[in-house]
Amino acid sequence: MQNLQIDGQRLWDMLMHTAQFGATAKGGICRLTLTDLDRHVRDWFRAQCEALGCTVTVDEMGAMFARRPGKNQNLAPIAMGSHLDTQPTGGKFDGVLGVLGALEALRTLVETGYETNAPIEIVNWTNEEGARFAPAMLASGVFAGAFSTDYAHGRTDRDGKSFGEELARIGYKGTEKAGSRKFSAMFELHIEQGPILEAESRDIGVVQGVQSMRWYEVTVSGQDAHSGTMPMRLRKDALLGAARMIERIDAIAREHAPDAVGTVGLIENKPNSRNVIPGFTTRDMISGAGHDAAYVTRVAPTTMIFVPCAGGISHNEAESTSLEQCAAGAQVLLNAVLEFDRRLG
Ligand SMILES: [Zn+2]
Repeated sequence: MQNLQIDGQRLWDMLMHTAQFGATAKGGICRLTLTDLDRHVRDWFRAQCEALGCTVTVDEMGAMFARRPGKNQNLAPIAMGSHLDTQPTGGKFDGVLGVLGALEALRTLVETGYETNAPIEIVNWTNEEGARFAPAMLASGVFAGAFSTDYAHGRTDRDGKSFGEELARIGYKGTEKAGSRKFSAMFELHIEQGPILEAESRDIGVVQGVQSMRWYEVTVSGQDAHSGTMPMRLRKDALLGAARMIERIDAIAREHAPDAVGTVGLIENKPNSRNVIPGFTTRDMISGAGHDAAYVTRVAPTTMIFVPCAGGISHNEAESTSLEQCAAGAQVLLNAVLEFDRRLG
């Protein structure tokens, strides 16, 4: 096999360029799914792929597939990709590295004239983050049959706007049925989002599985009362109950460390008045890290490649990965795809 070399600087330049779409003052990105900023980065991505001779198809969930033909069009494509949406205070690498690393790998194939046996497709999955529309990994979930398209299109954000309407508004509601496309395999390059690779001075993580994840919405009910007059022994303070649960969730996760994690990521307190003992509703969420590959693996062999991120910090504007680490990850991505392709031929 030819020893094809990706261009690390070129990959880095793309990462920094696309970081402008939704750049925050602290050096991160706020690019929520199906916003105008999402449309801008999608338009940019589509133009890059088309300039490389790829055909870009969009499915009914807005997932984008940029295809470069292979020698044998009867083979299902080898996919590589991740997501271009971010958290509200997201970093420059979570998801983006997987799409742009794939773009750099594909560009290397085009420039060297290397012909793969199977077609190659770069994928941009819609709404991996779940920050605007819950649940996360929505497009890959529909692709894998975990959710119906109707369910996904009906999800609403906090302003009551639906996923389906917003998808159409930004011009990315395609006609291809989600999941009708088959992959020979999918490869997802991603930052680790944890501190292990950095701590062990390793450049690449080969992912053996994605931990099981559950989100719970818990309603703690008490009884509203005047915070000045109700005697302590008669109070039913829902916020106090929630506080005890939060502390216990943390303790349970620590008891089962290092393999278990747990957190409460969101809380709403009603009526949220200093004069009222909270009795009505609070909302707790337990979150963890998932990836599109976790769904895609239900319908195609799937591999994830991790690169380190400084301090294990992600979903944060301070998220940081070096040029060399991004380049190493994209190189492993290209090598892995070519090795898999060689076996198909
Ligand atoms: Zn991600």
